[in-house]
Amino acid sequence: MAKIEILERGTSGYEEARDDVVWNGRTPGRRPDAIVLATGPEDVQAGVRIARERGWRVAVRSGGHNFVGVSLRDDGLLIDLSRMRKLTVDLASRTATAEPGARTEEALEQWRAHGLAFGVGHCPTVGLGGFLLGGGMGFNTGAWGFGAEQVSAVDVVRADGELVRASNEEYPDLFWAARGAGPGFFGVIVRYHLVLQPDPAGLTSHSYTYPLGALEEVVSRLDEVTDQLDPAVEPMGWIGKTHGHDGEPDPESDRVFLLNALAYLDTPERSLEALAPLREGPLEDLAVERTVATASFKDLFDFQRLLYRRARYAVDCIWTDEPPATQPLADLRDQMNAAAGDRTHALWQLPFGNYRGSREDMAAGDLGRYYLALYSAWEHEDEDAENIAWLRRTMQPWEPASTGHYAGDVDLLATGTRSARTLSPAKWARLQELRAVHDPDGVFHHHLETE
Ligand SMILES: Cc1cc2nc3c(=O)[nH]c(=O)nc-3n(C[C@H](O)[C@H](O)[C@H](O)COP(=O)(O)OP(=O)(O)OC[C@H]3O[C@@H](n4cnc5c(N)ncnc54)[C@H](O)[C@@H]3O)c2cc1C
Repeated sequence: MAKIEILERGTSGYEEARDDVVWNGRTPGRRPDAIVLATGPEDVQAGVRIARERGWRVAVRSGGHNFVGVSLRDDGLLIDLSRMRKLTVDLASRTATAEPGARTEEALEQWRAHGLAFGVGHCPTVGLGGFLLGGGMGFNTGAWGFGAEQVSAVDVVRADGELVRASNEEYPDLFWAARGAGPGFFGVIVRYHLVLQPDPAGLTSHSYTYPLGALEEVVSRLDEVTDQLDPAVEPMGWIGKTHGHDGEPDPESDRVFLLNALAYLDTPERSLEALAPLREGPLEDLAVERTVATASFKDLFDFQRLLYRRARYAVDCIWTDEPPATQPLADLRDQMNAAAGDRTHALWQLPFGNYRGSREDMAAGDLGRYYLALYSAWEHEDEDAENIAWLRRTMQPWEPASTGHYAGDVDLLATGTRSARTLSPAKWARLQELRAVHDPDGVFHHHLETE
């Protein structure tokens, strides 16, 4: 068995390691008995075996970006994979491997250096581990699908400490769960095997800015346009305060509705052509500002770095099949105008690019056509209650038509059913059956609020 260093509670290094686990400034106070800073699969195997011997439950952390800090649990062992960041690429087969601690930007840059790409998430520092395990809503979902759809196999340390490869051919149940189970997975993924895409060298961004008062009118015209778009065009709505070049929101500005579409074609000309339904359709005349420009992934990451500066966050989301025109837009507009934090914003996938109805081959992926996520952001602890209450209040009118939640952004503590609703009822039931088979002794922590 590999010799590993275990940082036990009360010993030197434990507090620093614990404080580093959660990216959200609103880090929960939960404390594991011990933390292992794993550097390779053998450390993970040793960690799982030691946890079994000592009767500890196991929690896992990759990039630490889960908003409710789900990897921090009271008691048991935390296996921290943030040092496992190795990336490889095979040019002949256009495939890659990634360790789970690898971050979005470093991975994409390494693959793009070879003319290849992958549907990583939009934020540069998110860990591939949690992102892919929850499904992964990354770049170009319309053409490339969820991140998890671009995974061909995973290497998993199971509850007995064995390291196995799971794919559609070997351990298909484990592979099914690894593509969507999110924080309720019953194993540790130590390596992802990925299928890469050609780099979309003609990446182009098209933005319209509208006054928030025009929200209902713009949204009522949306379907007419989005139905005509190429799958490689990703339309996203955003509501928030305008940001200056320093990335700071202008506190005096009114919130606006921004409609941004990214076209991921191989030349700027083809991207512009794919964006024509936006220019030529009914969304043009209401816009107060228009920007069309070639874009780079670096620009997109830089923007995200500014938007998601480290602060205190509460985030929640829903999937819905309710068409945009009949969604509770007036409530959303009023609540956005009333939001306290200048950085608080809403993000909307209109529709979510990859929605193709039910799919059985992976746990993630068939919950709804539209996606709304709310990000409440603020600075000081004494503002927690106000900002969390705003989030829950704003989400309320959306709940009746909600078909579920996305594992990556869900506020697991909002209700007792959030985790279960990250999958369809049938898939959730299957996940529990598989958990009983693959982790009969309950070595791994369950979803947060079901414990
Ligand atoms: C600023 C920001 C921007 C974001 N942008 C996007 C985006 O564009 N698209 C998107 O889809 N999501 C996005 N997210 C959500 C993000 O993808 C999820 O929160 C994801 O879980 C983060 O992965 P992580 O490895 O960093 O998280 P962690 O907090 O380390 O992991 C979350 C949980 O997943 C499980 N887990 C993680 N890795 C493993 C593993 N290797 N084996 C077993 N279990 C594991 C554990 O239960 C762990 O507690 C964003 C989050 C933030 C904070």
